[in-house]
Amino acid sequence: MSREIFLFIGPPGAGKGTLAHLCMNRMGWMQCSTGDLCRQHISQGTTLGKEIDLLVKSGKLIPDALIIDMVEQWLKEHMAQGTKVILDGFPRTMIQAQKLDALLEKPEFSDCAVSIVRMELDNETVVKRLVSRLICTNKDCCAVYSAHVGEVTTCAECGAPLMRRHDDIESVIRERLKAYHEHAQDLIHYYQKTGRRTGILNVAQPVEKVFDQFVHIMGLQAV
Ligand code: ADP
Ligand code: ADP
Repeated sequence: MSREIFLFIGPPGAGKGTLAHLCMNRMGWMQCSTGDLCRQHISQGTTLGKEIDLLVKSGKLIPDALIIDMVEQWLKEHMAQGTKVILDGFPRTMIQAQKLDALLEKPEFSDCAVSIVRMELDNETVVKRLVSRLICTNKDCCAVYSAHVGEVTTCAECGAPLMRRHDDIESVIRERLKAYHEHAQDLIHYYQKTGRRTGILNVAQPVEKVFDQFVHIMGLQAV
């Protein structure tokens, strides 16, 4: 059975992780979030983790080569037959997009179909969403919440405590938005030229509606 990769491209706070989580729970897909991979390195406290921490805390992008290695390793470990995978937050630069295409040209990935899922959201809504974002501290769960929804403190899925991300403060959010907008147009043009299947989602509507729209425009079967 062929494998499929969905590239979620959108600013921080657009809802990429939230939609990916729904796809995992409802359709059995897998999510590779490069942000989560960075946070796992940080939590290990290695020299590399400490370098990544400094960049993440300041809202700067991690060097392309490092991120590409993480994604390549992840895909090699997780892309079994028939898998549907969401790459959440990757690629974020042209170099990452080109390297991903080079990787997917290798014989071991030649059966992988790639679709693009675009999300856009205005900066002020992004800031509002992210200052109230809470994430699950369990690295195998990584569910996402909003603090103002019932003032949740533990994860409804696994019971682990929730936390606020250290980079979800306004000044760092604005830095990340700058990094996103610096690269977004080039990335979008790059994928337009490849002619791959692309879906554009309206993420300014409630999460359930975003999920329904995703299922509909990508011609999927929700369970
Ligand atoms: P958000 O969900 O707010 O978009 P992420 O969790 O995806 O944030 O990413 C957090 C941080 O991890 C980024 O600000 C950046 O420092 C680093 N990072 C994640 N993905 C990438 C990537 N593809 N390229 C470079 N840096 C990345
Ligand atoms: P991203 O992965 O793109 O950075 P997240 O999925 O982490 O974004 O969502 C960021 C915040 O916005 C979280 O607090 C999440 O609960 C909330 N959120 C996600 N999608 C929506 C939506 N459609 N409407 C309102 N809030 C949302």
